Amino acid sequence: MNEKAISFDQKIINITSAVSIASGKKKRRTEEENREFNQDWTESFAFICNTDGLPTCLICHEKLAHNKKSNLERHFTTKHTQFAGKYPTGDARKKADEELQKNNNSQVSC
Ligand SMILES: [Zn+2]
Repeated sequence: MNEKAISFDQKIINITSAVSIASGKKKRRTEEENREFNQDWTESFAFICNTDGLPTCLICHEKLAHNKKSNLERHFTTKHTQFAGKYPTGDARKKADEELQKNNNSQVSC
């Protein structure tokens, strides 16, 4: 008997969360246009977050003006095709990015 009550409650929770998702449609856009630096970008595009909170390329040290994934992706795929080919995503890329970060830290003194 108790089980039935629980599953009924669960149903109500499911309905309420479905409603809140439907009513919060606008939220999705802000999530897509992430204004904050995403840590995943370091591994994916060899970018780090600088002191201004903006993405900086580890390979050519170019600073981008916006925290937009599409900008980082375009920079990486157009300017660093060799890097992408040399270090495919996964452990090799991760290691290469770590090396770049190490070099970056020793050069910059701030
Ligand atoms: Zn670059």
